[in-house]
Amino acid sequence: MSTAQTILALLQGCNSLRRLKTIHAQVFVHGLQSNPSISGKLLHFCAVSVSGCLAYARTLFDRIECPQTHDWSSIIRGFAVGASPLEALLYYNDMLGSSFSCPDSYSFSFALKACERVGNERKCGEIHGTVIRSGYETDVLVCTNLMRCYAGNGMVEVAQKVFEGMSERDLVSWNSMISCYSQAGLHHEALGLYRRMSKENVDVDGFTLVGLLSCCIHVGALNLGVELHRRASREGLLGNIYVANALIDLYGKCGDLARALSIFNGMSIRDVFTWNSMITAYGVNGCADEAILFFKQMLREGARPSSITFLGLLSGCSHQGLVDKGVEFFHMMSSKFNLKPEIKHYGCMVDLYGRAGKLEKALEIIGTSPFLVDPVIWRTLLGSCKIHQNARIGEIAIKNLVQLSACNAGDCILLATIYAECNDKQGVARMRRLIKSQGIRTTPGWSWIEIGNQVHRFFVDDQSHPDRDEIYRKLEEVIYRARLAGYVNNKFQVTMPDLKCEGHMESSSKYHSEKLAITFGLVRTPEGTNLRIVKNLRICRDCHSFAKFVSQAFSREIIVRDRVRFHHFRGGVCSCKEYW
Ligand SMILES: [Zn+2]
Ligand SMILES: [Zn+2]
Repeated sequence: MSTAQTILALLQGCNSLRRLKTIHAQVFVHGLQSNPSISGKLLHFCAVSVSGCLAYARTLFDRIECPQTHDWSSIIRGFAVGASPLEALLYYNDMLGSSFSCPDSYSFSFALKACERVGNERKCGEIHGTVIRSGYETDVLVCTNLMRCYAGNGMVEVAQKVFEGMSERDLVSWNSMISCYSQAGLHHEALGLYRRMSKENVDVDGFTLVGLLSCCIHVGALNLGVELHRRASREGLLGNIYVANALIDLYGKCGDLARALSIFNGMSIRDVFTWNSMITAYGVNGCADEAILFFKQMLREGARPSSITFLGLLSGCSHQGLVDKGVEFFHMMSSKFNLKPEIKHYGCMVDLYGRAGKLEKALEIIGTSPFLVDPVIWRTLLGSCKIHQNARIGEIAIKNLVQLSACNAGDCILLATIYAECNDKQGVARMRRLIKSQGIRTTPGWSWIEIGNQVHRFFVDDQSHPDRDEIYRKLEEVIYRARLAGYVNNKFQVTMPDLKCEGHMESSSKYHSEKLAITFGLVRTPEGTNLRIVKNLRICRDCHSFAKFVSQAFSREIIVRDRVRFHHFRGGVCSCKEYW
């Protein structure tokens, strides 16, 4: 064996920078520093391996007289995934200027990765141009990275064009397109890809399923989630901890605790995400006692809780009114587990005290928060003020929201309702003026319902659905039958006819999106089927009452997941016991 071969063999087995430096010294001793195989291997180790060192890689690279394509790839890759992706782009530029080598699919791919991380859309288009001129536009790896780069720079339509233009696609390209859509919030488009994959007989792997399941969670597509569950079980992917965790998360967020539990029980390995998903699932569904049992089991099995674990516990305690328990967990975080409560934990505490009617305490905990208190927290407090009809603290919340320039029409209407319930007409008038003077904007509300595997979306007073005539006809009948059961339309209505906003009881609009979605569900599903609605805002009091009486009049279970929590309507009552 020649010395060069010996050194190459040593490099092959090298696993630490110290060892590498010893080998490097040997290279000098034997005068082999300009052997391209050896310098390439040295560079590759320093730039790419986990125990490498980019500064050392840079020195090595600078000493290579005529860097080969793979040397460029190594150095670009090292910086692209390391701390300074911008430097990777500088090396890529140098590579284009060098006369000894041209980029290959690896160097293009890593340059694109760097570009994605730097967030430079112009550069992305420029690399794309070079890719085409170099004849790599059909390369699967390059195209996949192009898609990611475009999508990462907010140009998901261009990413889609690249994807559609590919002459052949591998599973990684499909998975990437799913994740591009999902990151851009285009969950329906991502789920649409799954249908295409099935049609084109493309296999799925764990990544595909996790990506799709996360989209199902966003739009509340439980039926499709169940189909993916079956698929996972057929393909033997239930042992994949990421898939199992995603399924638990889906079932938990859709309020199907029995299925979440059955996945959990079938798992041989569990990680902190598994436990967190279970604790959160039970917590947000108002079963704090079970959440606490899972927490205890988690500790017994030696898993270390994270800050998410405590969010689940705290929200459980707040939904079930376990104030003392909640306070105990809040303190336990730092005293026992060295976890500093974050702004969200403070938000849970405000909710915990607020729901229980301890509004002074809620205000006090806001005062002790080391964070800049965000609008969400003031809004939580305002919500509690509504439940307990406390206008004084409600005013404090509104003042703070105005100061943060975060006050929206819904907030004002919420406080106006409190005034109305306390018969304070001047207060109502003040809120009306505030809305006008501040030019406060409204958030459009929408609701989603899944029928079969298709998700339908409705806006307030929606006219865009192809079956709108049928839906509105049916809605009149539904309202009539709900009235017979006891539904009183807009009981506490504060009329603000100049405002069309949703998600808050006082809007003048008659057809909030959830009413349309519920009606559509009644028309399109067989009798007795549960209806699952996802809504982007809080459900308003009128729609809440509507859903209760519809559940009774039509003997349907209706599950509404709004921005804040779950509502399970059954037989004329809701699981939230009117606290939301
Ligand atoms: Zn409503
Ligand atoms: Zn409810």
